[in-house]
Amino acid sequence: MSLRDVLRVPPGTAVDLESIDPGSTPGFPRRKNGGKSWARQELAELAGRLETLQEQLFATAKVAETRRRVLLVLQAMDCGGKDGTIRKVAGTMNPQGLTIVGFGKPTEEELAHDFLWRIRKAVPVPGQIGVFNRSHYEDVLVVRVHDLVPKRTWQARYKKINDFERSLVDDGVTIIKIMLHISYAQQSQRLKQRLLDPTKYWKYNPADVDERAYWDDYQAAYADALTRCATGYAPWYVVPADLKWYRDWAVANILVETLDDLGLHYPPPSFDLDVERARLG
Ligand code: AMP
Ligand code: MG
Repeated sequence: MSLRDVLRVPPGTAVDLESIDPGSTPGFPRRKNGGKSWARQELAELAGRLETLQEQLFATAKVAETRRRVLLVLQAMDCGGKDGTIRKVAGTMNPQGLTIVGFGKPTEEELAHDFLWRIRKAVPVPGQIGVFNRSHYEDVLVVRVHDLVPKRTWQARYKKINDFERSLVDDGVTIIKIMLHISYAQQSQRLKQRLLDPTKYWKYNPADVDERAYWDDYQAAYADALTRCATGYAPWYVVPADLKWYRDWAVANILVETLDDLGLHYPPPSFDLDVERARLG
């Protein structure tokens, strides 16, 4: 069984986040000493494979007509580890083949358009691996929790999201959606840590503490988004993320497994090898 099979949200089933322990390590092989150091070693090896797969994707788009690209959507509660995951997992790849985009509070211009307008513009071009640090899902998460639009508006968005993702898949985008699932207690610990370390003050946002009061509403909104938008063509994965070493190992694995499935390879020469070798003596 692949790790994706373990962590994938089965389409058409109601997600119960409370039944998934954020401190658990599903699919992780049993190790004597907890596994942390082994996971870090494994991550280095997965990073090597990722680098090759990414280069193959990039190289193919350079020399041939292809629409193929990959989009990794990362969603999490505040302090959920999106930034850390990007640094540890995406950070191992060639920056030229990576497009990382973060989505914050929409600007006035963005608000004047349909919610998918800013997302469409950020979809990776062929040959790229795109990473969304937050995404169109915020429009059924924070927007729903804080009543930023009427209920019927956000309710209509699940279908719009599914249709949008379908159109991306039809246009060569391989979509991977990951929720980094942390616990209420872990969030508090990470917030407190930020206040103890002068190199982390910049990460501390007092508004995150206000948002904690809405934890249950967020969890309910996440569960609905996962339930309604986990599709066969654009799967959602829930990665328990209290343990950072497990989180990074799991995300790297999901990426490698998905890229492996694409049957990538280095493109063959589009010229006569012998002729070119002879020309160079
Ligand atoms: P950060 O990820 O820490 O940079 O924070 C980004 C902030 O932007 C978070 O508080 C999100 O809830 C907020 N945000 C992202 N997308 C939206 C959206 N569509 N509407 C309102 N707020 C959003
Ligand atoms: Mg934040």
